[in-house]
Amino acid sequence: MPRPLVATINIAALRHNLGVAKRCAPNSKVLAVVKANAYGHGLERSMRGFAEADGLGLIEVDNAARLRQLGWQKRIVLLEGFFDTSDLAAIIEHRLDTVVHCIEQIEMLESTQLGGRLNVHLKINSGMNRLGFLPSACKAVYQRLHAIPAVQDISFLTHFANAEDASNPRVSLAQQVRRFHTAVEGLPGERCLSNSAADLIHPECAADWVRPGVMLYGGTPANTTAETFGLKPAMTLRSEIIGIQHIVAGDAVGYGSSFVADKAMTIGVVACGYADGYPRHAPTGTPIVVDGIRTRMVGRVSMDMITVDLTPIAHARVGSKVVLWGNDLPIDEVANAAGTVGYELMCAIAPRVQIAEI
Ligand code: PLP
Repeated sequence: MPRPLVATINIAALRHNLGVAKRCAPNSKVLAVVKANAYGHGLERSMRGFAEADGLGLIEVDNAARLRQLGWQKRIVLLEGFFDTSDLAAIIEHRLDTVVHCIEQIEMLESTQLGGRLNVHLKINSGMNRLGFLPSACKAVYQRLHAIPAVQDISFLTHFANAEDASNPRVSLAQQVRRFHTAVEGLPGERCLSNSAADLIHPECAADWVRPGVMLYGGTPANTTAETFGLKPAMTLRSEIIGIQHIVAGDAVGYGSSFVADKAMTIGVVACGYADGYPRHAPTGTPIVVDGIRTRMVGRVSMDMITVDLTPIAHARVGSKVVLWGNDLPIDEVANAAGTVGYELMCAIAPRVQIAEI
């Protein structure tokens, strides 16, 4: 009998959430972002869930090649481009599109004998100051790329720093949109700006393509709940109670004895810890569901276990079913309690967690 910790991936939810993304941007094509093992949901499963997407975006060439082997025929974009000239042969072989975000990548394209042609996505740094060329360099970079015989189509993209908080005084969404469109003005090629937050909250940013990630998995990029946007959780992490302790006022629980009971309590031990991807810093009070009833995590998160308050759940026993996040408990609620984001929890699911599919 394997350890009772299972992340169930709901393919219909992936499909449903893609439908939400499409309806938000009805005139755009959708590049579904499947980086980080499809935000922890599995590349192959997500490929099936996103069969109606127009393309997939991710980071590693070998994972992109795997998508081709699995039968994905439509566009695949390498969102950080390539890291070395040795990547270029595989990019051509597997018909991958590549982002180009720095001069060094252009030099590699210029200096390599490529055995075919490739599509390039020129990344503009419109204010996030992570990857990309400054808007003032865009036209010169475009000309340089255009002069490379192996470069076929050139498209343009940028990434938003604050789409969920559009009026951020440091870098506003409107500023980034304006800088991007000014930079690419008059240049032929498709445009792509929106991540999930922009797709959901600022449909006016939608261009030829949108590029959502977290919303497709049923997570929210904003303060508003995913449910408000009509999104369904694609991952439900379930475990069981594997031990029970009855404690009295003054007893402490777990490492550091950080939680001290102020009354008699029943403590349940759940088979899930930080080595499974549960956030190590989740504090006492983080929500959890046992036998369909909400209760709270208490004490410190251990490597393989957490402890929960079973006092309000009289019938709970060893074998009681636990939901750590997903159906009945939004991942973003758990993430908020732990001072992180749903993205991180999804991506952190450890290889030892069993995966099931519905
Ligand atoms: N595009 C790029 C370049 C990204 O790095 C990401 C994710 O970080 C996305 C799109 C998708 O963003 P989100 O998951 O917020 O929709």
